[in-house]
Amino acid sequence: MSLLIIGSVAFDAIETPFGKTDKIIGGAATYISMVSSYHTNNINLVAVVGEDFPEEHINLLQKMGVDTEGLQIKEGEKSFFWSGRYHNDMNSRDTLVTELNVLENFDPVIPSSYQDCKYLMLGNLSPQVQHTVIDRLENRPKLVAMDTMNFWMDIALPELTETLKKIDVLIINDEEARQLSGEYSLVKASRKIMEMGPSYLVIKKGEHGALLFHENNIFSAPALPLEEVFDPTGAGDSFAGGFISYLAKTDDISFENMKRAVIYGSAMASFCVEKFGTERLIGLTNKEIENRVQAFISLSSVDISLSI
Ligand code: AMP
Repeated sequence: MSLLIIGSVAFDAIETPFGKTDKIIGGAATYISMVSSYHTNNINLVAVVGEDFPEEHINLLQKMGVDTEGLQIKEGEKSFFWSGRYHNDMNSRDTLVTELNVLENFDPVIPSSYQDCKYLMLGNLSPQVQHTVIDRLENRPKLVAMDTMNFWMDIALPELTETLKKIDVLIINDEEARQLSGEYSLVKASRKIMEMGPSYLVIKKGEHGALLFHENNIFSAPALPLEEVFDPTGAGDSFAGGFISYLAKTDDISFENMKRAVIYGSAMASFCVEKFGTERLIGLTNKEIENRVQAFISLSSVDISLSI
């Protein structure tokens, strides 16, 4: 099933208690595309970079099976740059720099070969651009999922509110859910957010797993306790990539199947944090992915009798 991914393709500079990187390849759509390449092979990317973006990174995405016809390269302009520093708990971070550069005037162009899109993943980008992509598709996809972040809540809340009315699944973290809803309780927050538009909501809680909400149903997925967490950058995007590509592969958007997609998303996020940037997402084997998903299943399955 065709999967259309939009989002940032970027340079990142990351500081964690374990080390520091210079500019490395990053961006929401990079992580989502790389992860999706393990589940489905009909992946179309709409994004923008500047002329400073190395061709080898674009070649790498292509090699992983991502169609980059929709990736614009802007002559004389610079790519989006983001820099962040993680606190000692590795669960929270400060954004040090956000240079929008090419993203400032990004006008997403959807190649005609991308128009048959059945699954749409709106990765982290300005909500106006996310909205424009929905408007520019001739037919509404079967499922529209979206990620966003506090940055856009701070500077573009009215536009974000409009875009939320058009989507099916919102994937955000606990801090963002609290900011968007004004509620501390995630259950209350989920109700308020689902009233804003999406009928499904995923709230990621970092090392505490993820929650899936739909109507009155809640599913809780664990996070795998890992021996080493090196760099959480991109974990949220890897989750989104695992989630949407599993749904696209199975072409089943029931609540039951979304639970499985949450486990796949969690498994892919757990790989991402084991090395800096996208490093761990390159060259994964099917066996490694299967074993990781199995570890998630084993982690929380219990045989219990209620008649004691
Ligand atoms: P995550 O750790 O999953 O929240 O995502 C980290 C990625 O998001 C990094 O690779 C950044 O390049 C990208 N990013 C950070 N801020 C923004 C933003 N305002 N818009 C789009 N992408 C962003």
